[in-house]
Amino acid sequence: MPKPTATITAKAKDKTVERIKRFLELGDYDVKVTIDPNATDTVVTVGTTTLKNPTPAQLAATMDLLLPKKSSTYDLVVIGGGPAGLAAAINARSLYDLTTLIIEQYAPGGTAATAVNQIDNYLGFDEGIDAGDLCHRAVLQAKKFEAQWLPGYGVTAFKPSDDPKTKKHEITATNSDAPHDAVTVSASLVLLATGVIPRKLTQPTAAAFEDEGIYYYALPADAEGVTAKDTIVVIGGGDSAGRAALMFSGKGAKVVMLIRDTLTKTMLKVISDKIKADKNITVVENTEATEFDAIKTPPPDNPNAKLTVVAKAKSYAVTAVYALISADPQTKWIEDAGITVVRKNETDKYGLAATGLDIFLDAIKKGTFKYEEHKKDLENVTDMATNKPGVFAAGDVRYRAERRIATAAGEGTEAALAMHNYLKANPKVLDAEAGRAAPYYYLA
Ligand SMILES: Cc1cc2nc3c(=O)[nH]c(=O)nc-3n(C[C@H](O)[C@H](O)[C@H](O)COP(=O)(O)OP(=O)(O)OC[C@H]3O[C@@H](n4cnc5c(N)ncnc54)[C@H](O)[C@@H]3O)c2cc1C
Repeated sequence: MPKPTATITAKAKDKTVERIKRFLELGDYDVKVTIDPNATDTVVTVGTTTLKNPTPAQLAATMDLLLPKKSSTYDLVVIGGGPAGLAAAINARSLYDLTTLIIEQYAPGGTAATAVNQIDNYLGFDEGIDAGDLCHRAVLQAKKFEAQWLPGYGVTAFKPSDDPKTKKHEITATNSDAPHDAVTVSASLVLLATGVIPRKLTQPTAAAFEDEGIYYYALPADAEGVTAKDTIVVIGGGDSAGRAALMFSGKGAKVVMLIRDTLTKTMLKVISDKIKADKNITVVENTEATEFDAIKTPPPDNPNAKLTVVAKAKSYAVTAVYALISADPQTKWIEDAGITVVRKNETDKYGLAATGLDIFLDAIKKGTFKYEEHKKDLENVTDMATNKPGVFAAGDVRYRAERRIATAAGEGTEAALAMHNYLKANPKVLDAEAGRAAPYYYLA
């Protein structure tokens, strides 16, 4: 079936246009961008609706998602709309009838929809499936079961309740376009499913070009319009960097890969072999990009612009830079809320949410864990539960996650089941404050 179309008309191809375009692409729209130097507003047409300078919430409304109703109390609030959050929401709605809100700081679908192209190993899709399509289907499935969405809002504060039988958890989310427009909702259960966020380049000159020449995702749409005249720098030595390099070289572009180690150190052999055989790709190993410089507006909107990358004292004039250099959890607010996290390396700024026995990992490592003290906790510990009652974690944000789409979806499903079991053991949790009668949580 052909995709529905959406159009964006704007003065320049800036960060706002890039965000709107990606938002709509995640909603599975075929997006056409027209640059009109005389345009005063960014005008978006989705189906029969035309919006001027739309916010993510307005865009979501046109995409026919279910936005939050007036009631700001839910059985379950899922934070993060990627595969883990979506799987949890679909199961919580379809099997357990929990009223569910998904808060997503960007667009429904998560990193999976932005980061990966074709997935060949997902159960049931013998011909492979595009990650965006998979996520789009999951968004539709969540909608079918009436999960509600708060897109474009990032959770900035979280007050977990120490006793959900008497007091609900409180979650505050903020819209970056309107920082004063904060939304606070309460819930009996919370799922942390915030994944990890692509790591950004730290060179001071890189920030000015974010979404305007330097990108942290490589979508199939990015290859549209790329020709043999283009030179593209891909930074990173992982599978996604390799895939991006092949995608652009497939369009005839000259690709320069800047890799900190060697091509074969972290990349799947099947991808590095293709890169070695590709005449359009130059691999520069043991290097980092040291500098970026250019006129502010990159091509194609400014034909005179030259984004220049310097590495190993050599300068490359490029069309665009794709930096695909790992990802980090953004868990400050989770840690501030008293959720136990584990750092993979001592130098890591943020940790990953600890669940199950990992809650005690630090104490075990330090030799301060006292069995007698935690005997009761150990009996109740479940794989997806954090140290706060009624707060669960699933997907990439969870320590020990495998960081795959299939495992994230599996963890979300498992978390929904863990929540169901938690409610069976603590039926009064749903009655807290709002007095919602527990309906049929005793389903097998
Ligand atoms: C470049 C790249 C390539 C990859 N390639 C593959 C592949 O080929 N195959 C594969 O199986 N996996 C691949 N992965 C991994 C896969 O994408 C992840 O494992 C999967 O998306 C994890 O799902 P998740 O739901 O845990 O998190 P995500 O998909 O990251 O979703 C988390 C969501 O939470 C949102 N969020 C974060 N913080 C907040 C907040 N404070 N408030 C509200 N929302 C928030 C984010 O915007 C995001 O949408 C790749 C990942 C990357 C980065």
